Amino acid sequence: MELNRVYLDNAATTPVKPEILDSMLDFYKEGYGNPSSIHSFGREVKSHIDIARENVANLLNASAKEIYFTGGGSEADNWAIKGIALRYMNQDKHIITTEIEHHAVLDTCKYLEKNHGFKVTYLKIKENGIIDIEEFKSAITKDTILTSIMFANNEIGTIQPIKEIGAICRENNIVFHTDAVQAVGNVHIDVKDMNIDMLSLSGHKIYAPKGVGALYIRNGIRLDNLIHGGGQERKKRAGTENVAGIVALGKACEIANKGLDEHISKLTALRDDLISRIQAVIPHTIVTGDLEKRLPSIASFCFKFIEGEALLLSLDLVGIAGSSGSACTSGSLDPSHVLMALGLTHEVAHGSLRLSLSDFTTKEEIDYVVEKLPPIVERLRNMSPLYEDFLKGEK
Ligand SMILES: *Cc1c(COP(=O)(O)O)cnc(C)c1O
Repeated sequence: MELNRVYLDNAATTPVKPEILDSMLDFYKEGYGNPSSIHSFGREVKSHIDIARENVANLLNASAKEIYFTGGGSEADNWAIKGIALRYMNQDKHIITTEIEHHAVLDTCKYLEKNHGFKVTYLKIKENGIIDIEEFKSAITKDTILTSIMFANNEIGTIQPIKEIGAICRENNIVFHTDAVQAVGNVHIDVKDMNIDMLSLSGHKIYAPKGVGALYIRNGIRLDNLIHGGGQERKKRAGTENVAGIVALGKACEIANKGLDEHISKLTALRDDLISRIQAVIPHTIVTGDLEKRLPSIASFCFKFIEGEALLLSLDLVGIAGSSGSACTSGSLDPSHVLMALGLTHEVAHGSLRLSLSDFTTKEEIDYVVEKLPPIVERLRNMSPLYEDFLKGEK
């Protein structure tokens, strides 16, 4: 079988679904009115933003007035954390997060710690990629104002015990924010049932375009603004709305909501098939993160004795797009903070591969990967001095 290209990097970004693209095109043509305007051009556009807000809210079991549109997931994370922190500047207050957050959360916390006198606890994870609830409880102090723990990890797909964390935060009067950028549209989320106070999501991880996202802020949570200016988003987030993007995000949430059970069962089956077949045919493979408490969309591995970058390049040559956990974007050779937090050695973490699935992923594509990947790993291993040493040691 020959496939031209197999895209398995959906955790980096998803393709835009055709019906979502269609929903936005009108707003680049006729629907150009400014939603803040009094006239009919503006009012019509505004009504579509209202519909989008309803659709986002419905997916989370929130109410529409608790949804605020942003310029993406990173802005939502920054706003949630800084918006609370700004209320407590220089008061020695304490924030709890984890070692495996996305950099939008991690670097925001580090910034507040370094520049504004906050204390931050970075919770470790167990070897399955999940935090220890007891450790979380004992990290809480009388000064803890905020907990920010991701719903699901973008590299290894592990899902945190969000409902439990939420209940503990509620009991202790701590605001609970979760970065759910990877989780939204891939798992069932109910902000009320899960005691979530703030939740970040992003368009381009759920088949809408890049540059649009949202922050859910529970009614009653008081948050400073991050962006000041006009009175958009009920005076909470200034700037003329990215109308087409917002409409697309609303459509994406509507579609996700309708097909969620089907999406979950389809992707879970494909993911498990991929993981078990790869594990069966490639020796010295570690599946990173818990096998059960993981997103249906993410399969993640470390292959001992190889370099993730070389693996990605070889996969790319046969048309397969995956990703490594390493921080290759920063030009650094350090393996990712997530894989390090799992307790893997540098050598093992270097051989990481994340394959992330979407609604468009097919059984044929999984078969193709299972056919192409093993000989590539084998070839790279045969070039590896580490592997040679290992084989000598075995004799
Ligand atoms: C992609 C991602 C973000 C950032 O979202 P953008 O819309 O790209 O800014 C934040 N958190 C997680 C977990 C992500 O996967």
